[in-house]
Amino acid sequence: MKPDFQKQALIPVIVQDEKTNAVLMLAYANEEAYEKMLKTNETWFYSRSRQELWHKGETSGHFQKIKGMYLDCDADSLLVFVEQIGVACHTGAPSCFFNTLKAFDSRDIFRDLEDLIETRKKNPVEKSYTNYLLNEGIDKVLKKVGEEASEVIIASKNPSKEDLIGEIDDLLYHLFVLMSIYGVSLDEIEAKLKARHQISGNKKEFHTRGEM
Ligand code: AMP
Ligand code: ZN
Ligand code: ZN
Ligand code: ZN
Repeated sequence: MKPDFQKQALIPVIVQDEKTNAVLMLAYANEEAYEKMLKTNETWFYSRSRQELWHKGETSGHFQKIKGMYLDCDADSLLVFVEQIGVACHTGAPSCFFNTLKAFDSRDIFRDLEDLIETRKKNPVEKSYTNYLLNEGIDKVLKKVGEEASEVIIASKNPSKEDLIGEIDDLLYHLFVLMSIYGVSLDEIEAKLKARHQISGNKKEFHTRGEM
């Protein structure tokens, strides 16, 4: 199967990050760009504004190495999974889709937080607290983890559940930064929690004093 370029000279190409599944950009391919992608395993498009064949990365060095390519049900759009060198967007953003029109209510905020910290690490942002922490280094982060843990203790002695939630939130965030510095992933934490859960075999026994 191949796209039907007789029907449509330009077909939309959705580019996704092979590791994070993030949607990086959308561009158009003509038949020549499509053939180039198959031959070179890098992305090629047809630039509608410049009206010319365009090898993504040719001026920026931000090439995209193709890891997988899919044609949709009616053969008129492409989905390409890539390893992105640098960033996808010519503005320097990791993805072209950074203009929030309607915020997406995430169902997996922990994974999003992990992704965000990795994104900040790769592409530092001025005035980002995460970048500030990462620059300061491990001692600063450990100090913050200690402080936030103490604040959790203090808040739990207060009657306000709101304060406790806020402090637990702060502690979790700083733990995520700590994990990032040591290359510990959320997957590894989950695997550990699951393994312990199986050992105890019973939710009630999970995290008994003896195990901790
Ligand atoms: P590049 O292909 O990354 O070397 O960029 C060359 C030119 O293509 C840029 O100056 C932009 O005009 C355009 N361009 C690159 N990436 C994108 C993108 N993700 N979306 C739209 N235009 C792009
Ligand atoms: Zn369909
Ligand atoms: Zn279609
Ligand atoms: Zn862009």
